Amino acid sequence: MTDAPFRFPVAARYAGMESSPLKDIFSLAARENVVSFAGGIPDPQLFDLSPIAEAYDWVLTHQGTRALQYGVSEGERELREQAARRLSRTVPTDASQIRVTSGSQEGLFVIAQAMLEPGDVVLVESPTYLAAVQAFAVHGAHMIGVDTDEHGVVPDALEEAIRTHHPRFVYLIPTFQNPTGRTMPVERRQAVAEVLLRTGTPLVEDDPYGELSFTGSTWAPIAALPGMSERTLLLNSMSKLMSPGVRIGWMRAEGPILDTLAVAKAAISMQSSVVDQLTVARYLATADLDAHVAQVSAVYRERRDAMAQALAPLLPAGAHITHPDGGMFLWAALGKGYDAQDMLAEAVDAGVAYLPGWSFFASDPDRSTMRLSFVTHSPEVIADAISRLGEVIARRTES
Ligand code: PMP
Repeated sequence: MTDAPFRFPVAARYAGMESSPLKDIFSLAARENVVSFAGGIPDPQLFDLSPIAEAYDWVLTHQGTRALQYGVSEGERELREQAARRLSRTVPTDASQIRVTSGSQEGLFVIAQAMLEPGDVVLVESPTYLAAVQAFAVHGAHMIGVDTDEHGVVPDALEEAIRTHHPRFVYLIPTFQNPTGRTMPVERRQAVAEVLLRTGTPLVEDDPYGELSFTGSTWAPIAALPGMSERTLLLNSMSKLMSPGVRIGWMRAEGPILDTLAVAKAAISMQSSVVDQLTVARYLATADLDAHVAQVSAVYRERRDAMAQALAPLLPAGAHITHPDGGMFLWAALGKGYDAQDMLAEAVDAGVAYLPGWSFFASDPDRSTMRLSFVTHSPEVIADAISRLGEVIARRTES
């Protein structure tokens, strides 16, 4: 008797996703002797290692039996209290309004689980954060990109898209956006809030970068505007402030959706690691995260300057780069005739990698764009790698 042919079935929503152009790009970027600006990877030299080690030690010594046990789906009380305290700087928040997640990425997935039906439309900025699009897409949602300008999503375009497509929600990253590094000014936030209020549309506001400010100014989320807190799911993450490896984030919500979010979280993973939650809570209670974030932001600011200064003179006529006031990313549009995807292999051969921008568009990609993360390398390494990128661009300009 011969065995029947066998293959695990794959759900249609994951079909064709075994390999992705992005996976190929990241493996190219990981080649030896390549300076990669492709990933949004915090500089590990800047991790606040000793206070984090002390917090783990304290939790295991003083709360060990609890830390190693199952917890509750909504998240450990101490962490929700710390999260509520930080959020209350801009949006008054009670610990009961917090749902802890394993990073914002899980938060996006939990939201999609709780809210999306196959065929639903989600409106996103054009361009937007790719992995959010994936989390929504595997739940059968259609993403429609809304026009943006240098101040973020364009309110009239948003209103028209809402009236045409009746989205389940709008997904925005208003501060130090991924991938563009742009920030929505206050007036734009107000105009966007008015559109959302007028049309009764929920907002999913993703804010992992907001505290990484290079100017000293901080930005209140759209959720803080009058009438918006009860219509917004606001996501925060410790990934860029403390550690991405610890996988702790949270979202703020109000009303009955809080129960659904807890049920969805339980269905996915019961709860986030109790050890990690209690440790982050201890760290937030005893260490000075604000001072740490100020220090990290100062370093990132120098690196942004190094990248912008090196890149600006090398750009062809008609190209644009953003000048982020915080966060991790700079966005370059080389302009007509350039294809950043097409140019990547040559750039990698020259020892420098970036992320081609097309992947961040839900539709109509501008293929001349690229995302460059400035946070991982020293100013000297950045300047050197960007000059090599400049040579690659120049060869394209000539040909
Ligand atoms: N949202 C945005 C906009 C991001 O850039 C990222 C990380 N790249 C995430 C969410 C997810 O981050 P994490 O799961 O590490 O919190």
